[in-house]
Amino acid sequence: MEITSLHEELADSVRAFVRKEINPYVEKWEADQIFPAHDLFKKMGDADLLGIKYDEQYGGLGLDLTYAVVATEAMGESRCGGVPLAVGVQTDMCTPALANFGSAELKEQFLKPAIAGESVGCIGVSEPGAGSDVASLRTTAVRDGDDYVINGTKMWITNGMQADWCCLLANTSDGPVHKNKSLIVVPMDTPGIERTKIAKMGMHSSDTAQLFFDDVRVPGRNLIGEEGMGFIYQMKQFQEERLWGAAWNLGTTDRLVTETITYLRDRKAFGQSLLDNQVIHYRLAELRTEIEALRALTYRAAADYVSGEDATRLASMAKLKSGRLMREVTDACVQFWGGMGFANESQVSQFYRDGRLSSIGGGADEVMLSIIAKLEGTLPTRTR
Ligand SMILES: Cc1cc2nc3c(=O)[nH]c(=O)nc-3n(C[C@H](O)[C@H](O)[C@H](O)COP(=O)(O)OP(=O)(O)OC[C@H]3O[C@@H](n4cnc5c(N)ncnc54)[C@H](O)[C@@H]3O)c2cc1C
Repeated sequence: MEITSLHEELADSVRAFVRKEINPYVEKWEADQIFPAHDLFKKMGDADLLGIKYDEQYGGLGLDLTYAVVATEAMGESRCGGVPLAVGVQTDMCTPALANFGSAELKEQFLKPAIAGESVGCIGVSEPGAGSDVASLRTTAVRDGDDYVINGTKMWITNGMQADWCCLLANTSDGPVHKNKSLIVVPMDTPGIERTKIAKMGMHSSDTAQLFFDDVRVPGRNLIGEEGMGFIYQMKQFQEERLWGAAWNLGTTDRLVTETITYLRDRKAFGQSLLDNQVIHYRLAELRTEIEALRALTYRAAADYVSGEDATRLASMAKLKSGRLMREVTDACVQFWGGMGFANESQVSQFYRDGRLSSIGGGADEVMLSIIAKLEGTLPTRTR
């Protein structure tokens, strides 16, 4: 993937936006355990940052996914993980299937306002009894005349408390589990929906909700693409989600290593900078090498995706590697910052908490390993 001056300009404008519109408010939003998604998304929409890879017809910039990846990496400038996560849900998790497979009418109604920052979206896949095993989800959407009637519960839904609409994965028939699902856009003000907030160890500024659907009636035209294709569409949508995760981890870990170097250069112990200890600068050099390797992998996966090749293997590897590297970098940095690393206010402890999600959300490390193993042909036959 070639980085052009346009990629660099875009990354600069994302970083400038984050410094002006996000970072000054992080402390308050973390304490409030929510941020004003509608206000911030409107500002991002006005700055053309929510539809980088989407069609100009719906207000996007019409650029390819490599630009979105570089912009997400630049979101690593954010001094918390919660806000970038919420933005990532809007740009790379609840909208790709709508953009790729939705009808023109549905895109006009839901994608266009999402790109403009006039609505907040969420993605409803996980349930209390089904996370890693997506195929086993229980929520149903049953045809009744021209409508679907939805019943079930969704769990861990980012933006769930504030969302105007949900891209929901539900069973629309009793058939085989990979062929009985559909993605449906559900307006969140429809009668029968209840939301409760979930408290978490990190990502505090991002609101996470449990959503309850009790005889929720939505028009049949809110179906994305074809009925029964939802599992396939969601697996494709996960590729963009996983590339988002790799890119955000990349930008964040890179910044944390840079800030750690600055801190350790200033911090003195035993008559010298902490950075002058070989055990420390060697470890940081090693981590930076790992970050560069992740950058190469993520960019290669993005380039494959853009060229129309199946990027599942490389995107899964990038997601896996990025979650593990986030844990390694934050653990090492907390150690090197000493007591300051343990203080809530420090950036390294912030991402020690926030970054832990990277190995769980959007497919846990073990799910990535099983996808990679399957594509390598090394899974035992009975589980293939
Ligand atoms: C803060 C947060 C935000 C989230 N946002 C969203 C969202 O917006 N929308 C959404 O739909 N979901 C969301 N999720 C859900 C997330 O995608 C799931 O938590 C994740 O997929 C794991 O599912 P689970 O929690 O049910 O864990 P489980 O499926 O119960 O798995 C638990 C653990 O078991 C291990 N495991 C799983 N499968 C295997 C295997 N085959 N072999 C070996 N070990 C295995 C893994 O270590 C895994 O972490 C969010 C989660 C969190 C915590």
